[in-house]
Amino acid sequence: MSYATQEDVFEVLERVIPNVFKKNSDYKITEAPFVRIPYKEAMEKYGSDKPDLRNPLVIEDVTEIFENTEFNAFKGKTIKAIKTDNMEEKPRKFFDQMSEYAVEELGAKGLAWVKVEKEGLAGGISKFITEEQKEKLEKKLGAKENSAIFFIADELEKAQKVAGGVRIELGKRLDLIEKDIYKFCWIVDFPMYELSDEGTIDFNHNPFSMPQGGLEALNTKDPLDIYAYQYDLVCNGYEIASGAVRNHDQDIMIKAFEIAGYKEEDVKNRFGALYNAFSYGTPPHAGAAPGIDRIIMLIAKEDNIREVIAFPKNKKARDLLMRAPSRVTEEQLKDVHIKLDLDEK
Ligand code: AMP
Repeated sequence: MSYATQEDVFEVLERVIPNVFKKNSDYKITEAPFVRIPYKEAMEKYGSDKPDLRNPLVIEDVTEIFENTEFNAFKGKTIKAIKTDNMEEKPRKFFDQMSEYAVEELGAKGLAWVKVEKEGLAGGISKFITEEQKEKLEKKLGAKENSAIFFIADELEKAQKVAGGVRIELGKRLDLIEKDIYKFCWIVDFPMYELSDEGTIDFNHNPFSMPQGGLEALNTKDPLDIYAYQYDLVCNGYEIASGAVRNHDQDIMIKAFEIAGYKEEDVKNRFGALYNAFSYGTPPHAGAAPGIDRIIMLIAKEDNIREVIAFPKNKKARDLLMRAPSRVTEEQLKDVHIKLDLDEK
């Protein structure tokens, strides 16, 4: 849409998308306006940028509480915690199996836990937790008698990711996922840049999104503090639409790329079409692209997109029905001026 803001795009999709679901399903639906969750908050609370809000569990950061911990696995790490209630009947085996899942399926170093009982903390790592830490934990997590607390200690990003996986799995194993409902949210404020493994500044998602604050933000702010007008629409843990206010300004394009280490020449050579188009007065524009197949998957109550695609590819990206990819003839290659350079085999 020309001359559209992020709000304009939200307003359109919040009218269209719920109706698509309502017309085709008897499930309840969260009414518009959908909650908006900044990307960083989503990673903190749900360990994912596509949170399933049917799951009531929330991740809390408890790093500070364990500042002076005696527990080796926690020392110097970011510590995330998830509290679950009504755990009195859960045997030791439940916790062991959750730990096993975290280690084997999520790559966690471990999954520590305690139970909250009338007399105090019990089981798991309770002996490493002081009275003061216990009180702070209970307050922060809203833990009460018969709650359990699960802990994940690691570097920040890994801890978030593992905690996100533990949250989903606890939701399933404890049967906490709300049924017969579509819960929507917007994920907003994606960072424009991120730090690469080598310590350089890279684009985080889309180099062509409009940075919030425009040229001034690019000129004055720490790149890692700049957000993009970029957003995802998420339903029940699936991204069903993704969009952005796109950059339309040559100066912003040059500066945005300069921050990520590109010279103006690189921008002209590699993205010449867009760079040139901007010089002719491109109107401000924004939009979003819904994934029809994911929407149909949700409406059809399937949890694999292959179930709703006419010609699904297998894990090796082969279409077994159409037998694609397959060999082409010399003639076909000639038509499109392609010469092959394959290993003889
Ligand atoms: P250990 O001292 O290795 O026997 O571990 C004691 C408990 O701490 C076990 O429940 C482990 O799963 C758990 N644990 C070990 N490393 C971590 C970690 N990085 N984060 C959370 N829990 C951990």
